[in-house]
Amino acid sequence: MINFICPVCKSELYEEEKLYRCKNGHCFDKSKFGYVNLLQSQKSSAKRHGDDRLMVRARRDFLDAGYYGFLRDLLCDICEKYIPDGGNILDAGCGECWYSAGLKQHFVQKGKSIFVAGVDISKDALEFASKRKSNIPLAVASLFDLPFADGSFDAVLNIFSPDADEEFHRVLKAGGHLIKIIPLENHLLGLKSAIYDKPYLNDVPDEKIENFVCIKTSQAKMNLCLDLNDSIQNLFRMTPYYYKTGIEDQQKIINLDYLETQAEFEIRVYRKDK
Ligand SMILES: [Zn+2]
Repeated sequence: MINFICPVCKSELYEEEKLYRCKNGHCFDKSKFGYVNLLQSQKSSAKRHGDDRLMVRARRDFLDAGYYGFLRDLLCDICEKYIPDGGNILDAGCGECWYSAGLKQHFVQKGKSIFVAGVDISKDALEFASKRKSNIPLAVASLFDLPFADGSFDAVLNIFSPDADEEFHRVLKAGGHLIKIIPLENHLLGLKSAIYDKPYLNDVPDEKIENFVCIKTSQAKMNLCLDLNDSIQNLFRMTPYYYKTGIEDQQKIINLDYLETQAEFEIRVYRKDK
């Protein structure tokens, strides 16, 4: 188990019933849902505080419907290979913890255990994550200023969240693993084709990351057939396209009862090099 550290003095925070406290007396109340806010407001100049409620709810409903189960299954198999029994994992940008709660369950089913902590900048996401009751300590914090000591984790999960690779490197143990999920070129092309006249393909980031070695890549691809308007709306609302699209283009999706679209991902496993 890994404790959060105090954003003020960097010493360990110990959990009490309603708050977290460090040895120097700095206290951080838990929200009524159970997560703790460790974001230093004076340090955060950005107005945006992560994914909003509409997006978070849509993503939770879409994921809970199981459409990305094929991806989570592959993630579980890969994690089992690279994360030791009893290992400590950080879900960096955990959202509603759909992936990491499933991962914990997978380890239990295999007769193993892992400790998972989750961090996200969105309070709405952490509210939904808390409601899963997965026993994952959760904190509102920036991925670029993680509330953990150096060398804490056996693995960091970076699933569709910002690439704070330097900070991930800092909190990983020597030889620890960074596991990323990346959408491939054609991911959601069917959805984009329903909205845009000329849909662009996704840019796929380069494999190379400083001070990490990429040791494995695996692809997960599925043709999704969505035959419920709710599912189509949820998928649309959990993507950035919804927020970038004008009302006129949004209308193209609003009455759809059937949509076929590719879902294509790559899982990349990196080892901390030095
Ligand atoms: Zn302190």
